[in-house]
Amino acid sequence: MQNDFDCALEVAATPLRRTQTEILQLNVGKLCNLTCLHCHVNAGPGKKEIVGSETVDKILRWMERTKISTLDLTGGTPEMAPDFRRLITTVRGFAHPRKIIDRLNATIINEPGYEWVVEFLAEHEVEVVASMPCYRPDNVNAQRGEGVFDSSISGFQKLNEVGYGRNSKLRLNFVYNPNGAFLPGSQEELREDYRREMKLHFGIDFHDLYCITNMPIARFAAYLKRNNQLHSYMQLLKDSFNPATVSGLMCRNTINVSWTGEVYDCDFNQMMELRPGRAGEGKLHIWDVDPEAFLEMPIRTGEHCFGCTAGHGSSCGGALE
Ligand code: SF4
Ligand code: SF4
Repeated sequence: MQNDFDCALEVAATPLRRTQTEILQLNVGKLCNLTCLHCHVNAGPGKKEIVGSETVDKILRWMERTKISTLDLTGGTPEMAPDFRRLITTVRGFAHPRKIIDRLNATIINEPGYEWVVEFLAEHEVEVVASMPCYRPDNVNAQRGEGVFDSSISGFQKLNEVGYGRNSKLRLNFVYNPNGAFLPGSQEELREDYRREMKLHFGIDFHDLYCITNMPIARFAAYLKRNNQLHSYMQLLKDSFNPATVSGLMCRNTINVSWTGEVYDCDFNQMMELRPGRAGEGKLHIWDVDPEAFLEMPIRTGEHCFGCTAGHGSSCGGALE
């Protein structure tokens, strides 16, 4: 049965189909030192879901045989996965070079036992994408926890010191997401505001800023429910449907993989356990995927997909138009 999102696609005559897979996004698990309000993963300290060494081996063997150009590591806090460094050094040893992205939680840089993070990322030229929902401490601490702003600033300064945000081979990109039930504004304007404020107050440089819409799932959905805003936020997302964003949706060129090696269309579908293909299909592990056959599999959609197509659109790489 069609959901409202499928109907919106049909009315706008914008079918959602896969293109060549360019990104393997691996969610290494839910372990994190923070418990942010907007977290779609429900990550936090003490979580047991974390990718194991055998699963890492199988994923890497599969990826090496493909032409997928980018490994995108997310979590949780990716650096907390015991195999994080091995994942990166192994991919750097592949015959064909790949881009590696680390969705870094900058506070981990200041945690005991993680003194290696900055030097390691720089040595392997890993692109860093880091959450920074505001350049003001009150907004960041309200969303991500007390002390997170100062710790993140200190982490970014350490990254700058080794060349991140300043050297073209050491890309540092920030992620902004709204501090409540509203859509992000203009990415260009926010980027310039961040550039000015981060430099002026903290001497911090960065390359780019991505605006991401809060998804109405997991911890953010619970927050909306508690505040009686779930219905109005969903309506806002639906009313802001923008067909021009469909061609850039990340589910088209990404294969998302869980800490158990299971395949999903995106990290949101993974959290909702919506498997690719038709409803009711069983688990599909990455090591059983035929890349060509995967291109023919339908993308699973739901009401939450309006979060990706609202306003300027939203993806792991920011706004879509
Ligand atoms: S949003 Fe990121 S840093 Fe915050 S709890 Fe979730 S995984 Fe951890
Ligand atoms: S939620 Fe996932 S499947 Fe839905 S539009 Fe966004 S990226 Fe695509």
